[in-house]
Amino acid sequence: MTEVAEGSLLVRGARLPGASSVRIEGGRVVGTSIGDLRITGGRIDALGLDLGRRPGEEVLDAAGGAILPGLHDHHMHLRALAARARSVDVGPGSVAGAAAMAGALGAAAPGSDGWVRAVGYHESVAGELDRWVLDAMVPATPVRVQHRTGVMWVLNSPALAALGADGEDEAGIQRDASGTPTGRLFRLDDWLARRLPEAPDAAGSAIAELSETLASIGVTGLTDATPAATPAGLAEMAAWVADGRVRQRLHVMAPADLALPSHPRVSRGPQKFLLDDDRLPPFDELTVAIAGAHRAGVPVALHCVTAMQLAFATAALDEAGLHPADRLEHAAVVPADMVGRLARLGVTVVVNPGLLYERGDSYLAEVERRDQPDLLRAASLLDAGIRLAAGTDAPFGRPDPWSAVASAHRRLTRDGRVLGAGEAVDETAALALFAGAGGDPACPRQLVVGEPGDLVVLDGDGLPGPDDPGRAVAATVVGGRVVHHAG
Ligand SMILES: [Zn+2]
Repeated sequence: MTEVAEGSLLVRGARLPGASSVRIEGGRVVGTSIGDLRITGGRIDALGLDLGRRPGEEVLDAAGGAILPGLHDHHMHLRALAARARSVDVGPGSVAGAAAMAGALGAAAPGSDGWVRAVGYHESVAGELDRWVLDAMVPATPVRVQHRTGVMWVLNSPALAALGADGEDEAGIQRDASGTPTGRLFRLDDWLARRLPEAPDAAGSAIAELSETLASIGVTGLTDATPAATPAGLAEMAAWVADGRVRQRLHVMAPADLALPSHPRVSRGPQKFLLDDDRLPPFDELTVAIAGAHRAGVPVALHCVTAMQLAFATAALDEAGLHPADRLEHAAVVPADMVGRLARLGVTVVVNPGLLYERGDSYLAEVERRDQPDLLRAASLLDAGIRLAAGTDAPFGRPDPWSAVASAHRRLTRDGRVLGAGEAVDETAALALFAGAGGDPACPRQLVVGEPGDLVVLDGDGLPGPDDPGRAVAATVVGGRVVHHAG
């Protein structure tokens, strides 16, 4: 497949946003007027009433559908999301109780590596999980189960034996008092990946399918937030874009000292730093590393889920100094007194409103009532002037920005309860969380001349709903190339 650089696309008969910008009310794009839009050399080149087709120009008939900037998912994990398609879901929404979980694991076909891979686990399914609990469910086939936080994998005994985990000297391998591995592996994704290489074809075809699905719901850009990027991993991801398996733009978080293969649709994101409450890095080490990335001209992204991580990350940025594109990821808990501090710091915050739907009920059950106002904030952050954007955190959240947009506006949990009504943002602001470019996430792109030709053409003026987002998307365009067309 070739990159459209000099090609030209005419989108005809579309509902275009008014002079100002995209506005959503009651689930509909409002204030539009019918017109044409031309993309040349990958960028919006003209908007007008009747632009007229140029010789040889490709035409996309919008049939009166509204055009929006394509959605960019500002925090997701591409490889893990593709692997999820080949995994058993053992989350609370899919299985209830140890017997059901054992049944699901037993029925699963092992992958090309001979292992069963399961994801989404939470203690509400079958309690604390370790190798012995898993052995009782699946005694013979190697099994690995990922906790839904992504922090931990639990392996059964055949899996530990296959890896030779007994003799390994890795801090992330939990051991009991006698020194026997418990089966719990903390933050060892890379270690596992090096020992369990996937068949490249399996990974590649899953990636192509995933990208196609995302294109069909209007996603034109992805920010891969995988922490420990390697040269080989970066090269593989860039190859997926170059050979057309990934149709979106790809903004990749990577350490400042790693070279990123060059491609017009691949761009460098911040350097990611993970923070875990029980293993926070020495403060000085973190500030030195942040300053080092900044000196190389690379912003940083600090993973902060808890209030402790947020305080630590904020202090580190205060000390190291801020790059204008520095980000805080997740910010799932923001105590009231931190809101003003984040605003003064000027850091961009990338939240995951989709988790309101998926995890809201367990948050309401587990988080103390007085702390609930601090959960998954949005409106109070925007009101304070904080630069805000959103990602799905897929595969830990659903890879569907439209449902996250609905969550940001409606704040509904799966059981239909409302979590933090005061943090609801209006529909226009909710959509804007996914409308920024990879490198400037909090600044929603407009449909104006000079902007990249990354668009969603809707079927009418109604925004895709959370249940069947593909139904309302007529076409998706990345850099002037039609990457999905429903017709
Ligand atoms: Zn993540």
